[in-house]
Amino acid sequence: MIRRTEAIVVASHNWRETSKVLTFYTRHFGKVKAIAKGVRRDKSQFGSSLELFTHLHLIFYERDNRDLQIVGQASTEESFQEMREDLRRLSYGCYLGELVDKGVRGKEESQDLFKLLLGAFHLFKNGYDLELTTRLFELRFLELLGYKPHLHRCVSCRRKIVDSSYSPGGQLRLSSSLGGSLCPDCHLRDREATPLSPAALSLMMYLQGIDLSKLNRLKVSPRSRQELKSVLYDYLLFRLEKRPKSLDFLEKNLQ
Ligand SMILES: [Zn+2]
Repeated sequence: MIRRTEAIVVASHNWRETSKVLTFYTRHFGKVKAIAKGVRRDKSQFGSSLELFTHLHLIFYERDNRDLQIVGQASTEESFQEMREDLRRLSYGCYLGELVDKGVRGKEESQDLFKLLLGAFHLFKNGYDLELTTRLFELRFLELLGYKPHLHRCVSCRRKIVDSSYSPGGQLRLSSSLGGSLCPDCHLRDREATPLSPAALSLMMYLQGIDLSKLNRLKVSPRSRQELKSVLYDYLLFRLEKRPKSLDFLEKNLQ
């Protein structure tokens, strides 16, 4: 069947002498893996339209009983070349691509996820804070997969987390398995839960609610950034089950 849709290249691997296997996140068909035959030849009909991160108009041939589809035609809508030429943007882009590639398992389509990814790439391209854009992406991504962390009330006793009636000086935690925050009185409900400072918790609540475009006005201390990163990492890892490979590349390029 011939399929026509907008797509973003989220991963790319060379295949045999002249071809590539590409992972797309598409606007209408969810995640699609397809082979582009002859794309690495000098005079390929695809030109540069299948480079990593490119937003393109894609035609592919789909067969239900096949995991790997075939790219028919591709034309660039936006190349996102800026993301391939800068090592930090490249690293963050690969990480987002891998989250989509590994995190989306089935064929379900989500226009919201397509828009989220495209929106994040625009912020990367336009020089927004790469780290905070990535954190916001992670939070929204979890939400779209149905794993939104519930933050406002304790996931065990349902009391408001800002309530001061629980044990003074106790530690808030974020529980991956229970799907949200635990008040100090309930921390034993999940011994694996990650400790969470009130500052990091309010930052997460704030990020859950804002539009991507508001991100450039946000000021966050290095300490809160570090905490948010590791707390969200634990939470994501529980869902993904495996450490994303691109994280090593990312960590190396942040030094
Ligand atoms: Zn509680």
